Amino acid sequence: MELNEKQQALLRMLPGIDRILELSKKEPDFENVPRSVLLQSARKIVESLRYGILAGNPSVAENDLTDSPVLEKMKDTVKKIMTPNLKRIINATGVVVHTNLGRSVLAEEAAGNLLAIATGYSNLEFDLATGERGSRYSCVEEILCEISGAEAAMVVNNNAAAVLLCLDTMARNRKVIVSRGELVEIGGSFRIPDVMAKSGAILKEVGTTNRTHLKDYIGAIDGDTALLLKVHTSNYSVVGFTASVTLKELVELGSKHQIPVMEDLGSGTFIDFSKYGLLKEPTVQESVSDGADVITFSGDKLLGGPQAGIIVGKRDVVDSVKKNPLTRALRIDKLTLAALESTLRIYRDPEKAVKLIPTLFMLTTPFNLIKKRADKLFRLLAKINNPALSINLVDMSSKAGGGSLPLLDLPSKCIAVKIEGISSNTIERNMRENTPPVIGRIEDDSFIMDLRTVQEDELNIIKDAVARILNRNK
Ligand SMILES: *Cc1c(COP(=O)(O)O)cnc(C)c1O
Repeated sequence: MELNEKQQALLRMLPGIDRILELSKKEPDFENVPRSVLLQSARKIVESLRYGILAGNPSVAENDLTDSPVLEKMKDTVKKIMTPNLKRIINATGVVVHTNLGRSVLAEEAAGNLLAIATGYSNLEFDLATGERGSRYSCVEEILCEISGAEAAMVVNNNAAAVLLCLDTMARNRKVIVSRGELVEIGGSFRIPDVMAKSGAILKEVGTTNRTHLKDYIGAIDGDTALLLKVHTSNYSVVGFTASVTLKELVELGSKHQIPVMEDLGSGTFIDFSKYGLLKEPTVQESVSDGADVITFSGDKLLGGPQAGIIVGKRDVVDSVKKNPLTRALRIDKLTLAALESTLRIYRDPEKAVKLIPTLFMLTTPFNLIKKRADKLFRLLAKINNPALSINLVDMSSKAGGGSLPLLDLPSKCIAVKIEGISSNTIERNMRENTPPVIGRIEDDSFIMDLRTVQEDELNIIKDAVARILNRNK
């Protein structure tokens, strides 16, 4: 490649790595930055400047190669490298249990207990009464039994693990009967038939997609049947001409043939949502009282705790699950246990749970409160006072998410942002690249933020992010 004179001159001006490191020594911001990061940053900058010059990029000029702009670039690059990749973001999607955004926000009490356990030793597997080795699950077993009414309980890494472990324990190389209408796929490639195959259980589908009757189960039972499985269709709903067999009926059938019954509740809940004006979801307590031998559900869906798979049920079943060697590979870690125990304790008082557990609070937030929050953000954004910015308050609906309450539309207040001369895609990207990132969605060529999932102390951050976009693109 032939370089012109200007390019050659620029290349000669290009600062060396040593020069940049020398400059960085005097920079107070870099006092605690490891040398390896400074070196990496300096290399990146020299490389990108060189690339710009060689490509004839007009944005690389003499001015960009002097100390001060190079040091500014260094600050940006170092900051990016030093910031953890997993970071806090602002969820303005209105989806309360957003799997991609970390599902549940922990209650303050749960986060506090997590911190205490994280920063010290604990009696994780140590029985303080006897001074001997204890069980990892004992800290949550009692409270789980207390609020669910079950005889026994244990917890693993997530609900997928709980389902796998229960199937492996109870039905390896034997048949499990499931209705065709309940062969669920959850996002992230969890499919009941696949999990079943992995566990070594043999799937026996009965009924049709929309209708399954008790006689279908009866017809399928034979000497090789290990389990009747009911799966809660947590992320979709079969409506119209439908029929399904209730858990209670399955339990009766199972006891007649001495076949255990398992229910995968998916997003299990201890709260009857219909009391709060939402759609009814089956509760864990109901499944226990209907007599299921074992019930599995997630810790971080509607429960609003940390990622976990909870198993409750009859003593003998839970005991044999605990003895399965697979348990060791799927075991829950102590930080999760700390957060889970605190979350579960809040459920002793359901009224309190709805206030203190953010997932429940966001699901049940009255419209007026969201409207107030939206009005507040509207006023903040109006203060930016830039004629290019157009903001509108719009009525839209939020979703529960997390593969739960699929038919539920929660009336909510959103803010729609448009900026003259800037596409909604660019606004979305700029908001996403903000520190901290603000995640919304695009609809009707506007950037939409749903205030249901935004916290009060995040409103000013959003305003600053929008103001920055306007400044940057002036
Ligand atoms: C979500 C879900 C699972 C998986 O739970 P994770 O905690 O995400 O592993 C399994 N079964 C059903 C029915 C679900 O809804």
